[in-house]
Amino acid sequence: MKPRSFDYVRAKSLAEAMAALSRHGADARIIAGGQSLVPLLNMRMASPALLVDIGALAELNGISLAKDWLRIGALTRQAEAERSADVAKHAPLLAKALPHIGHVAIRNRGTIGGSIALADPAAELPACLLALGGEVEIAGAKGARTVKADDFFKDLYETALAPGEVLTAIRVPVHSNSMRVGFSELARRHGDFALAGLAACRRNGSVRLAFFGVGSTPMRAKKAEAALAKSALEEAVAALDSDLDPPDDIHASGKVKKHLAKTLLRRVATELQ
Ligand SMILES: Cc1cc2nc3c(=O)[nH]c(=O)nc-3n(C[C@H](O)[C@H](O)[C@H](O)COP(=O)(O)OP(=O)(O)OC[C@H]3O[C@@H](n4cnc5c(N)ncnc54)[C@H](O)[C@@H]3O)c2cc1C
Repeated sequence: MKPRSFDYVRAKSLAEAMAALSRHGADARIIAGGQSLVPLLNMRMASPALLVDIGALAELNGISLAKDWLRIGALTRQAEAERSADVAKHAPLLAKALPHIGHVAIRNRGTIGGSIALADPAAELPACLLALGGEVEIAGAKGARTVKADDFFKDLYETALAPGEVLTAIRVPVHSNSMRVGFSELARRHGDFALAGLAACRRNGSVRLAFFGVGSTPMRAKKAEAALAKSALEEAVAALDSDLDPPDDIHASGKVKKHLAKTLLRRVATELQ
């Protein structure tokens, strides 16, 4: 299929992008890497009147250290983050997760910000951001604001981004000796979206577990986190029975997904020691 016709603006500045977005309200859509949006347009699952291309906004690009945070600009390609020495050193959880996103061709175009803004419940990066206790930087007509990952993912493909707002960067706490991170996912073939996955972080005695592919958003498993913080692995695995309630989907039943989540927790727990 072909998309419905739409107008197109390639913004030259963040201000120009936000002005175009606010003029067209819910009829406008940002396009970044296009790896999710273009298929949605072609299948006519999205039919915006205007596409605002943010690809030329250099200020949304790049990876930098800011005090205790690693900041990754929204337009940074997933492949660039995957190759970054700063990401490998300061955000090893992201380095573990990035090679699992689709295929090289997808990661060459797909952006970090696009993945977080789309908030696919089976995506790797939203879960990593949540596991690390990261933050999202947002620009809008009323100025800039920062939202914690815990408050960003609201529901299925629904985030704290309001119409007209642009996700400008994400930031995650810089990795330290007191941190351990773990990542694993189960997919039918490498490169497919995961049937279930787990991104995890242990820091100063507390544990954050963010499962993906098992709910409408990346899901914290808080009872399992508390059990794992006292190194009670079997208690943590049992706690997933109440922490998670995965719905059936076309790939697996909720029961199978919960079984996979338990398997993932046993695997990832060894990385957190
Ligand atoms: C075959 C295939 C396999 C894939 N496999 C995986 C996978 O295994 N795991 C995975 O996580 N992803 C996967 N993806 C999706 C891929 O990671 C996308 O790159 C990503 O989801 C979206 O990033 P993008 O830059 O391409 O965004 P786009 O497609 O351009 O945009 C996606 C959405 O985010 C919005 N958006 C984009 N940037 C911003 C911004 N800065 N501020 C506000 N809103 C914004 C857009 O308006 C749109 O709604 C796959 C895609 C394909 C085609």
